[in-house]
Amino acid sequence: MRIVLLGAPGAGKGTVAKSLTEFDGSVQISTGDILRNAVKAGSELGKKAKGYMESGALVPDDLIMDIMEVRMKEPDCQKGFLLDGFPRTIPQAEALKKLLEKIGMKLDAAINLDVPTDVILDRLTTRRTCSNPDCQEIYNIKSKPPKPDGTCFKCGSPAVQRADETEEAIKHRLATYNEKTAPLIDFYKKEGLLITIASLDSMQIRDDIIKALKK
Ligand code: ADP
Ligand code: ZN
Repeated sequence: MRIVLLGAPGAGKGTVAKSLTEFDGSVQISTGDILRNAVKAGSELGKKAKGYMESGALVPDDLIMDIMEVRMKEPDCQKGFLLDGFPRTIPQAEALKKLLEKIGMKLDAAINLDVPTDVILDRLTTRRTCSNPDCQEIYNIKSKPPKPDGTCFKCGSPAVQRADETEEAIKHRLATYNEKTAPLIDFYKKEGLLITIASLDSMQIRDDIIKALKK
């Protein structure tokens, strides 16, 4: 499947993308993960992106498109892809449309994970992420806690609160989402690609998506 996942920070795009990957072998492409790895590695891209990310602002569109132009042409994308955290702005959505035309691919759907704001806020403040860049397992101090000593069950590295998950950064991210990313819902509605999913449980969401795609 070739899908764009839309939804506010904390809507569960990453979790849903992972479970869909297991379903049909499509690759998950998370611009957030690519950028965080670049920051960790201290690459040129990472140096440019770091300040924006920590404050909860968006990284400039041209930088994102440079990454995605390269990524979407890699052979594993032929199996299908789940775009998680991209596009994030109307210019990115327009650029993606052009890029897909150029490489002869079509989107199956844009899936909007529609989650109430109070649920989003609760999830973001309780989220912890494994600090090992090769693992990045996601925990939640209420519903899926890491080991009692705060480390990851999978790899043993500390599970930490991301720099952009402080209360101030979260507010900034949600405001940025409403201003820059929410307009994509209308963009994809006009393209005839929008599917809205209101379930909150990740397995239910996965089933709803698979059902909607069959129609
Ligand atoms: P979230 O949990 O907010 O969905 P992500 O992990 O997708 O966060 O992204 C983390 C940060 O990386 C964003 O706050 C932003 O600074 C940057 N980022 C990720 N994807 C994009 C994008 N498509 N355009 C611009 N900035 C991006
Ligand atoms: Zn881990």
